[in-house]
Amino acid sequence: MTVQTRTTKVGFIGLGIMGRSMAAHILKAGYELHVYNRTRSKTDDLIAQGAISEESPGDLAAVCDVVITIVGYPADVEEVYLGLDGLLAHARPGAVLVDMTTSSPALARRIANEAADKGVAVLDAPVSGGDVGAREGKLAIMTGGDEAAFEAVKPLLATMGGTIVLMGGPGAGQHTKMANQIAIASTMMAVCESLAYAEATGVDPERLLGVIGTGAASSFLLNGLGPKIVARDFAPGFFVHHFVKDMSIALEEAERMKLDLPGLSLARELYQKLVDGGFDEEGTQALYRVYTGFTSRGTTG
Ligand code: NAP
Repeated sequence: MTVQTRTTKVGFIGLGIMGRSMAAHILKAGYELHVYNRTRSKTDDLIAQGAISEESPGDLAAVCDVVITIVGYPADVEEVYLGLDGLLAHARPGAVLVDMTTSSPALARRIANEAADKGVAVLDAPVSGGDVGAREGKLAIMTGGDEAAFEAVKPLLATMGGTIVLMGGPGAGQHTKMANQIAIASTMMAVCESLAYAEATGVDPERLLGVIGTGAASSFLLNGLGPKIVARDFAPGFFVHHFVKDMSIALEEAERMKLDLPGLSLARELYQKLVDGGFDEEGTQALYRVYTGFTSRGTTG
């Protein structure tokens, strides 16, 4: 099977910050799109653009050749895939299911194995690039699972992403995403510390970003989230609570391998302070609050 815009029926579950933009790209590319989300009102925009509403993951799986999911937590993935009215119970033989949630590598392997017994392929294909990458269709997509299934759905993934790579068998996509989140964890601390230092010295932070954002310290996070920190704009592009989930999965995996990751441990500790302070629904740039004694005035969207 290779996806074809005119004949392949695509399902999409999870229409949050990421999913709503990703699903819109699939619809725009010309696929018949079936949608389901826990909070039903989040499907309204896509239905207005021509998507078809389904009552449950099971109903959606029964009519689709390919299903994309991007929900919140591993527990959500488990419910959507393995629940009584879930995807595996109702998927068509030969279907390809692609989970783009950032979730546990062990769960990805378990779902892929259970699916294989039913003649269904499940790929783990988490993404990086944030809400902006999702809107622009430029996500990096890191995939684990069966190669033939990956090749079959690659043109569909290409509607949402620029870099699309098969990293290995089931779980390899999630392991790659964990490596990505580990790099982000220490970079977020670095960006916040740099700006806290600059602001304490009285150097103009906007001019500072204009200079160091073009030098060796430049990064996607410094250049993308630095200006938001300076503006005290803490509205979520990527929720603090999701990042804490990711760091917890990565730390569990590292512990299992007896690998000490002090930067990651410290980042989770600092982000946990944000959660304890009630800032878990803000964006990850709200880490700056920790460096300013939580006194920063901020917008939370
Ligand atoms: P989000 O806005 O919370 O979206 C998740 C969506 O999934 C919500 O609409 C939620 O429904 C829906 N959902 C959750 N459980 C469900 C279930 N059991 N059945 C049906 N729908 C369900 O989060 P997001 O920012 O889009 O992130 C989604 C995933 O991508 C997370 O794993 C996150 O870590 C990862 N990610 C996010 C970013 C980013 O920058 N935002 C970047 C890369 C990866 P409700 O509306 O009812 O809550």
